[in-house]
Amino acid sequence: MYDVIIAGAGPVGLFLGCELALANCKVLILEKADRPGSILKKLPFGMRGLTAPSIEALNYRGLLQEMKIPLQVKNPFAGNTPIQQRPGGHFAGIQFHLNQVDTSQWKYRLPITTDFNLMSEMEELESTFTRKALSLGVTILRGTPITSFEQTTDEVIILANNETFTAKWLVGCDGSRSVVRKIGGFEFAGTEPEFTGYTVKVAFEDPSILKMGRVLTPTGMYFQHQPGYLGIQDYDGGAFHNAGTPITREHIQAVLRRISNTNVTITNVEVATTWTDRARQATQYRKGRVLLAGDAAHIHSPLGGQGLNLGLGDAMNVGWKLAATIHGTAPAGLLDTYELERHPTGQQILDWSRAQVSIMRPTAAAHALNAILRDIMNTRDGATYFAGRIWGLQTHYQLNGDHPLTGYSVPNFNFEDGTLMSAHMEAGKGILLNFAANTSLQKFAQQFEHQVKYLTIPANDQLGLHTLLIRPDGIVAFACDEMPIIEALEQATLQWFTA
Ligand SMILES: Cc1cc2nc3c(=O)[nH]c(=O)nc-3n(C[C@H](O)[C@H](O)[C@H](O)COP(=O)(O)OP(=O)(O)OC[C@H]3O[C@@H](n4cnc5c(N)ncnc54)[C@H](O)[C@@H]3O)c2cc1C
Repeated sequence: MYDVIIAGAGPVGLFLGCELALANCKVLILEKADRPGSILKKLPFGMRGLTAPSIEALNYRGLLQEMKIPLQVKNPFAGNTPIQQRPGGHFAGIQFHLNQVDTSQWKYRLPITTDFNLMSEMEELESTFTRKALSLGVTILRGTPITSFEQTTDEVIILANNETFTAKWLVGCDGSRSVVRKIGGFEFAGTEPEFTGYTVKVAFEDPSILKMGRVLTPTGMYFQHQPGYLGIQDYDGGAFHNAGTPITREHIQAVLRRISNTNVTITNVEVATTWTDRARQATQYRKGRVLLAGDAAHIHSPLGGQGLNLGLGDAMNVGWKLAATIHGTAPAGLLDTYELERHPTGQQILDWSRAQVSIMRPTAAAHALNAILRDIMNTRDGATYFAGRIWGLQTHYQLNGDHPLTGYSVPNFNFEDGTLMSAHMEAGKGILLNFAANTSLQKFAQQFEHQVKYLTIPANDQLGLHTLLIRPDGIVAFACDEMPIIEALEQATLQWFTA
């Protein structure tokens, strides 16, 4: 019997597989598709922006270093390109610029050591995760779609490709149309779409007719990132996508002519797919022995590129908690904190995408709002606010404890022995970091040594901190600027680990 069966070898299922296997769980991934890869996963369609929490997660597990990132928006505070020329990101297509961003807001960020924003390719992410998962002993069966399952008090029995598989736990990472979510009876609440989005690769009779870049028009939006490679938003209430009608050359041409207000002629369609801004979220992330993560748990428009980041965050959050539950080392209620922490994070992203959709509407009111927002984003406070949200720097969990770093990700300390904090996270254990090399803390740490590594190395910049308890997902569970009261530290530790 497997400890965990994961439905779906997309980025979230694969990354979760790595997390669980790292924590010594026996993992099987069942994937519907016969083979990985598709043109939509390759650049330019497969371009995926990674935000700070994802970059940190991949860095903690040594995965970032394995990727040959094709397009890299370097750390804004390093490198040679003049900062004025660098766009930092966008909200509803409106750019903010790096020179406007006030980084002093993020007192506990050590920007020199970790990037805030990187471009990756979906296919490369999946192949990197697959290599890692296989090296950790995960079994991946492709061409094996899950068609049904039932759970008892001790196990989940799964039917896939007419074969039966059994596991203690099932995690649905099977994307937006998740079979696990549907069969599991999870409520998927939210809002209906306002538009049909198109991703197309086409050839034009006269390529000079359409502008390059993102063009907001009185009837919608098109975005041409390379000649012939387009994203289109047609505010039809999602009707075309929902109807499931085949996407013909004539249809795309008619939509594009209307939205661009030109007589553009398409001579050939190589790739065409549709999507919407439907925004829905599972009201529960767990029912008994069945959990959801990634697009299976939440969907929204890809505007601003947050879905993958949200899913990787789910996997990073639930992996170590589920593993500790399986090994019997989890304190009571640990697994419940997955939904408590990740549901509000998902809700924020859904609202972020809804807000973008609403100010891109082809209405006079939306265009007026858009112009106001453009002005705000061109101010220091505006750019800083949007950077914080878009780069994921505001992501944090409401944990017990009054230190301002509690619930945020640990700074990537540059230790005096030449190592970085992230290198110490590769084993996927918790860390008790004590800059003062205090013997009573070392003694305290011994009770938790099977789950928590004790670290006492001075760092180049300790940010005024004395002691930190860091969860396996890199989140600071306890922080203190001076010698902590042992009882308080113990109370915090027992929330996440057992002695
Ligand atoms: C045009 C576009 C641009 C985007 N840009 C960004 C971006 O820049 N940044 C970002 O963060 N996000 C972006 N996203 C969103 C991101 O791609 C998704 O959120 C992400 O792929 C979700 O990963 P996942 O593993 O949860 O699901 P998926 O990638 O959908 O993977 C699910 C897997 O489950 C498999 N499966 C399905 N049913 C079954 C079954 N019954 N049994 C077994 N396996 C099954 C599927 O074959 C698939 O391999 C974009 C999305 C689109 C459409």
